[in-house]
This record gives sequence, structure tokens and C-alpha cells, in this order.
Amino acid sequence: MSAIAQPVGDAATEVETSSLTDGFHLLIDALKLNGVETIYNVPGIPITDLGRYAQAQGLRVLSFRHEQHAGYAAAAAGFLTKKPGICMTVSAPGFLNGLTALAHATTNCWPMILISGSSEREIVDLQRGDYEEMDQLAIARPHCKAAYRILHAEDIGLGVARAIRAALSGRPGGVYLDIPGALLGQVMDAVEGEKSLIKVVEPNPASYPGPDAVTRAVDVLKSAKKPLIIIGKGAAYAQCDDKIRQLVETLGFPYLPMSMAKGLLPDTHPQCASAARSLVLKESDCVFLIGARLNWLLSHGQGKGWGEKGAKKFVQIDIEPIEMDSNQPIAAPLIGDIESCATALLDAIGSDWQKPSEEWTGAVRSKVETNVAKMAPRLKNNNSPMDYQGSLGVIKEAIAENPDVVLVNEGANALDQCRSIVDIHKPRKRLDVGTWGIMGIGMGSAVAAAVETGNQVLAVEGDSAFGFCGMEVETICRYKLPVCIVVMNNNGIYRGDGTNWGGGDDPSTTVFVKDSRYDLMMQAFGGVGVTVDNPDALRQAVKEAFASGQPTLINAVIAEDAGKESGNIGNLNPSSVVAQARYPQAKKI
Ligand code: ADP
Ligand code: MG
Repeated sequence: MSAIAQPVGDAATEVETSSLTDGFHLLIDALKLNGVETIYNVPGIPITDLGRYAQAQGLRVLSFRHEQHAGYAAAAAGFLTKKPGICMTVSAPGFLNGLTALAHATTNCWPMILISGSSEREIVDLQRGDYEEMDQLAIARPHCKAAYRILHAEDIGLGVARAIRAALSGRPGGVYLDIPGALLGQVMDAVEGEKSLIKVVEPNPASYPGPDAVTRAVDVLKSAKKPLIIIGKGAAYAQCDDKIRQLVETLGFPYLPMSMAKGLLPDTHPQCASAARSLVLKESDCVFLIGARLNWLLSHGQGKGWGEKGAKKFVQIDIEPIEMDSNQPIAAPLIGDIESCATALLDAIGSDWQKPSEEWTGAVRSKVETNVAKMAPRLKNNNSPMDYQGSLGVIKEAIAENPDVVLVNEGANALDQCRSIVDIHKPRKRLDVGTWGIMGIGMGSAVAAAVETGNQVLAVEGDSAFGFCGMEVETICRYKLPVCIVVMNNNGIYRGDGTNWGGGDDPSTTVFVKDSRYDLMMQAFGGVGVTVDNPDALRQAVKEAFASGQPTLINAVIAEDAGKESGNIGNLNPSSVVAQARYPQAKKI
């Protein structure tokens, strides 16, 4: 039996506590009841003890050095597990740091819950200047799918249930849960407390498309002469891998995987058209989108790369009805979850489905083969310093030999080149910058990948991207995670050879200290750090990292001039005739 000393008037009396519970424990119990096993956390007022108690109660609580990375880890965990990833932060500044990740999760349609401690409501609401005063609930609301505040211990069960259902139902997203510090210390009867908890039943129920929608979609797909499938990360998230494969193989269409849908079917699959991307986007007459949005990543389905305007019909599977017609008219919308939609389609098309003509599929196949053959020798170069082809050729081999390794990838050239060069062979084995193209997701994603899958992780990082999250190598070392980081070190952002256009002494805005030794950062925390400047040495270092499972950082020396401005999306940089005239160094519009 436990007891606490409770001051009553001047005398301290013993209070019996065994029949009581409090806000701390109700919150932990509510999370556990709903299957939460891991919290990505940065401790501090008022949630320091919450993290300790959660750990004491059997949850895995991983503490980061900065909330943004704890948040990115929670977001990645949501994508990988189809359950809300949980991030816990302190008030105001910690909350704001976590909010970027919550917005990122929402933008990517991943379930995540950001639980932030907050200051005293009575003082905050009268703006009396509390410790870390901020109306966090109001600030969170526009950046996530739903935001809730819990004020009373007896409502914790309800608040957690609402957060979980909001994160998982329909199109998944981020949810903010505001926890005023005073709530955690509230005490109530333990039996009543237990009764107040809610185990959420079926937060993401199957949702089937109507029969007319299925018939319409089959008709459109049947009438296509040059059909194409685009598979997005919504399909990877849906975790119905066999069904998607069956659908793609039955239809027999060439397909393009979006970057985080790579591996849903192996990138080496005969229908994979990644290496003939330009051809299939331009020439196809029907595009079937499965869990992929026609947003900027697909040029909104328009422009030169998409061929003649209006020449394509679109079929789209999405759980979110208002996604339809957001960029192009969707001739056959299939609203529902991907598994249900794929099942309905397979039933409807039956066994006598006519695959597209060999004229189309053969042309795509031969383009793929030509382009793959053209690239192959470049991937085998042993240049020192390395270029992207030589170094990523090694990474491609390493992933082919170890297909269960989770590849994390961010940067500009390091991202674009890795995405196109490195084949992924299994579902959900690639985590990257997502819909916003965020820099700094790398270390949080790597931690989540290691923790949630138990697999080896390989993080291919531009030196700039790594700079946003590099301090988390300490976190990786502290939890002894099997993470191998390759920093593609070209001395700068995009390229390392920029100069100051004003001629002054300061370096260019896009270059870093030359020949930095990122490997020493890993050594500082007891991990393995090595520098390599040629592909053979890189191959050996990756092999050793995989064999040992030790936290490893390989500082990979890349030629300063190997990269392109803004990687593959330089076209998004604004320019003007004035700027072009004033700065001869600037590229022509
Ligand atoms: P990508 O960037 O890979 O193209 P997007 O994030 O743009 O992928 O698109 C993912 C889409 O998948 C979103 O529109 C989302 O609503 C949808 N989605 C997510 N989960 C499911 C699901 N289980 N069933 C159907 N659609 C889903
Ligand atoms: Mg760089």
C-alpha cells in the first residue's frame, strides 16, 4: 500500500493512494489500452515525469535532442505501422518545434498524435504572462486534422479516443492533444478512472466503392489503349500489398511508383516503367492513380510532360472524396480504402481481362531496357572523389543484397539521384522527404524505422540535409540502433563550388566548410565513423556497418561540382529578366 504526505492545514497527514489514480497514469493507461507501445519524446516542464512514468509502465520512451526529430520519428512510425505515431513535447517552444512534424504528417496523410504539455489555462487565457505562455490549441488547429484539449482527468479516456479516431479514420492525419500541466496532477478514484477509458473499436473501417463506380472504372480501364498506373504512398500505407500486386499484374499495365511507393512491387518488376517515365507520362491515354495525388510532384497532371491537353482519362482510388478533380477531371473516381477498391475491381474484371496490346507494353519495356543499359556502366565507375552515379551504384547493390534494409533518403541531388538509381524490392522500405520535400527528416525517420521494424537502416543524406538533424546521431548511439548514415559530402548545398557574387570575403550562401569530417560527429558519441573517397571503400564501409549493426556514419566525399542547382526541381526557382541581366553567373531563364 502506498501513501503520500498531504499537508492539511498545518499538519501533514497520510493519504491512502492505492484506490486513487491521476492524470499521468490515466493518460498512460489510455495510450496502452489502445495499443500504443512507443513514444517519441523530448522531456521538460511539464511532461518530464510523464515520460518517466510511461517508461516505468512498460512503454518504450525514446528521448530526442530536438522535438522536430521526435515528431518526424512519430510521423514515420505512423506511415510504417498504420497506427498513430506519438510525439510528446513541452509547452510553447517545444510544441512549436513539434508542430512542423505534425503538419508534415498531416500533409503526407499519415496518422500522428502530438501530445504537448501546456501552461496554466487561467493565466494563459488572460495573457498574464505565464511560464511559456501560448494558446497552443488555437495555433495547432490550422496545421493538423483535429486538435483537442483535455481539462479534467475523467475526460482523458475520451480525449485519447477522439485523437486516435481522428488520426486514423478516413484520410489519416496529424492530431494535436493539449495537456495542461495541471491535468497531469489531478487525482481521482482509480476504479472510476479505469471505467472512463475508451478502447477505440475499428477506427479505420473498410469503405467500399459503390457498384456503379466500379463498373464505370472498369469501362474506362477497358477502353484504354495505352494505360498507365501510378502508385503512391497511400498504397504503401494501406498495407494490402498482395492485393495491389494482384491488381497491377491482372491489369497488366505499366506502372510508375511514386518515391515512397517504390518496392510495393519490386522496382525490377517487368511492368515497372520508372526508367521510361517521360514516355509513359506523355504517351499514355489513361492514368489509373492508386493512393497518389495529382499534386506538384506530378506537375498537377498537366504541361508538356503530360502530352496533349485533355488526351488522357483518369481513374483514381482515394479514401478522400474531395481529392477528386482537384487538378484534372477524374472520369472514374473510386472512393474508398485501397484494399476494398482493389478487391471490388478484381471481382468486377473477372478472369477474361484483356491486357493492353504488346505494341504499348513492348514499347515501354524496350525504353526501360535501353535506359537501364545506358545507366549501368556509369553506376560502376570508381571515380575519386565520387560522383552520384558511382557512389549510389554501391548503395543500389547494397540494397539489392539486403532488401529488408530500410532506406532513408533526403537532400537535393542526393535525394533525386538516389530515388532514381536505387531500386527498392519490398514494401515500405523507403522513407524520404514526403510531400513537402522537407530537409531534416532523416535522423527522426531513421530512428523510427529501426525501432518500428527492428531492421537495419541505411540513411543516404545530403550534407546539407544532414545538418538539419545531425545532432540526433547521439540519440542513435544512445539507443544503439542499427543505423548506417552515408553523408554525401560535396561541401555544400546543391554544389560546393559556389562563389560570393559580390566578391566579398564571406563564402557563398550555398557552401559549407570544405572537407568537413562528419564521421567525427559519430565517433564523438561512441559510434563508428569513417571517411571514404571512392566507391570501393564505400562498398566496404557499408558492408561492415551492416555486419556489425553498429551506429555508423560514412563521410562520403563527393566531387564539389557533381550536383545540380536544386536537384531535379530547379525549374521551381523564381527568376526574372532583371536578375538575369544583373548577375551573369545566374543561369539563363
Ligand atoms: P504520393 O506522394 O506517393 O503520390 P500522396 O501522399 O500524394 O502520395 O497521396 C496519397 C493518397 O493516398 C492521399 O490522397 C490519401 O488520401 C490516400 N490514402 C491514404 N491511405 C489510403 C487508403 N487506405 N485507401 C485509399 N486511399 C488512401
Ligand atoms: Mg551537398
